[in-house]
Amino acid sequence: MPDSNILNPSAFNPYAPDQSAADQYLDPSDTCGCGDTGYLTVKTVPIDLAHGVGYVKKVPVYLCRSQSCNDFTLPQAVARRLEDIAEEMEKSGAEEVVFSWFSGDATAQAHRQAFTLQFNCREYEDARVVLVVPGQAVFLQSTTEPSEYYLLHYEENYNTEGTWFSFIKFYYDEPGFSYEEFLDWAEDGYLKELGCLSMDEVEDALVSELGEWE
Ligand SMILES: [Zn+2]
Repeated sequence: MPDSNILNPSAFNPYAPDQSAADQYLDPSDTCGCGDTGYLTVKTVPIDLAHGVGYVKKVPVYLCRSQSCNDFTLPQAVARRLEDIAEEMEKSGAEEVVFSWFSGDATAQAHRQAFTLQFNCREYEDARVVLVVPGQAVFLQSTTEPSEYYLLHYEENYNTEGTWFSFIKFYYDEPGFSYEEFLDWAEDGYLKELGCLSMDEVEDALVSELGEWE
């Protein structure tokens, strides 16, 4: 890490155009299969295979808050990826796999993805989660200062074992907020790194910076 915690985006740009990450962007909420508002969460989903019914664990789905509802919907990008996963399962004869966006290294990736998804829709005292890019990024917006944002960003190349996230603060004045527009903006945008956190440190760091959550 540099001595100064003010980052020079040209020297440190984790947001270089990365189509695969943009493909994985999922809206935090959409419609549940029952018609109510569905919130992004993870679920085990049955899948029809040539060799019988298989199960894919930790699939990102939209599900409403009703305990009894099981009418989840699949985000389009997830539905497309499930087709590839079904093919892979038929080739390998697997009956159960954990959802991942890429073949290989599924465990670490699925773990990271589930970790980021658990923040979806959280409201801390001072900020609320506005976007989750599964396995990659969690964006929060201040509840008192709408142009103030916080970002947890997975650090793929951090030179230490384990899973690390940079914790970043930035000011963004555009109305609305989308991941793709953020990626464009971040190429010249001003990002201040508050710290680099291991997965175990993230929860405490968010609470100490942003207050308790419900
Ligand atoms: Zn529902």
